[in-house]
Amino acid sequence: MINIPKGVQDVLPQDSYKWKKVQQVAYDIANKYNLKEIKTPIFEHTELFLRGVGSSTDIVNKEMYTFLDKGERSLTLKPEGTAGVVRSFIENSMYNEPLPIKMFYITNCFRYEKPQRGRLRQHTQFGCEIFGADTVQADVEAILIATNFYRSFGINPVAYINNLGCAECRKKYAQALKNYFAKYINTMCPDCQKRFETNPLRILDCKVEDCKKIVANAPKIGDVLCDDCKNNFNKLQELLKSANVNFKVNNMLVRGLDYYTNLVFEFVDEDKKLGQNALGGGGRYNNLVEELGGKSTPVVGFGIGIERLLLYLEDKGIEIEKDNNVDVYIASLTDNLSYVINVAETLRKLGLKVEMDIVNRSLKAQFKYANKLEAKYVITIGENEILSKKLSVKNMQDGNQYEVSVEEVLKGNLNG
Ligand SMILES: [Zn+2]
Ligand SMILES: [Zn+2]
Repeated sequence: MINIPKGVQDVLPQDSYKWKKVQQVAYDIANKYNLKEIKTPIFEHTELFLRGVGSSTDIVNKEMYTFLDKGERSLTLKPEGTAGVVRSFIENSMYNEPLPIKMFYITNCFRYEKPQRGRLRQHTQFGCEIFGADTVQADVEAILIATNFYRSFGINPVAYINNLGCAECRKKYAQALKNYFAKYINTMCPDCQKRFETNPLRILDCKVEDCKKIVANAPKIGDVLCDDCKNNFNKLQELLKSANVNFKVNNMLVRGLDYYTNLVFEFVDEDKKLGQNALGGGGRYNNLVEELGGKSTPVVGFGIGIERLLLYLEDKGIEIEKDNNVDVYIASLTDNLSYVINVAETLRKLGLKVEMDIVNRSLKAQFKYANKLEAKYVITIGENEILSKKLSVKNMQDGNQYEVSVEEVLKGNLNG
């Protein structure tokens, strides 16, 4: 037997209704905000992620599935959803169309991570990107889309928000961090020592306990923000408040990617018992399009991991509504298969979910199976029924059995 590779999972038929539901909710919410779906390939040139995700990130340094194809090109399975969308935006000159351009995607992402609960090597992301709107309203819209997505499942996590500042602010802040960490850097982890040189902001993200203690007293971005950045951030908070978004300012939030500017946000359940408590997040990346060779265009967006959301709902005891059961099971006792298939097809055309025997069970076994499927009605078709043009119908909910003319059955009238 060949086993499934480490760190990935199957979605089995009995669980796939959850995925269908999540997808429907995502499509529905995206539609309400007039987002259009974009599909980009599973793999891209490795260069895209080096430049688009950032060479100082853990994703690029440790987690990418990179390989040479038969033409000796270095390709990488996408570790996140944004870079490919930005590449496509540039390549298709979308900035020539009326802005904003609002897109969403549901895509697989691949990261070579240490497998643990809620952290898979292949996961699925629902993401949204709003191009060409450098405004607080666009920030609010992105946060509202994600918030409403969560609310559709009956949850309302807190949106942690932070402002990383404009280019000027960030320069100032990076310097402030360097000044602060200079005293401690020799006692910090090797990753932080590297980050100190490449991108000191990333030190704030370190998960090593000793580093975290030092990080706790580091200067806060709020201390160095310029007036514009401060005003924008205040305005954002006012608007989120008036839109009833459950949010909190978290000065330590930087997110794991290099490309963020100004706004970052993360959806968190503060109930720490649930372990993996970040449910998704995003922010603004106003330099990314230019960074990847396009005409400077502001972007705000987010990504939500679907597997993690499903685990979270499970932990919360929130059940996703199951698909409806089989409406009609057709039990057959005849060799006249074309007759049986015709009845089944006619009912399906009426929109009913119909099963018929395709494994030649005995009549008794067919009824047992119909029961297992929780079919609402069982129609029995035998030689007698075909001759008399009256089919035997059993209402499986109340157990009543009666005859209905073929004509009525084919109209979907199963109640006699
Ligand atoms: Zn600023
Ligand atoms: Zn560290």
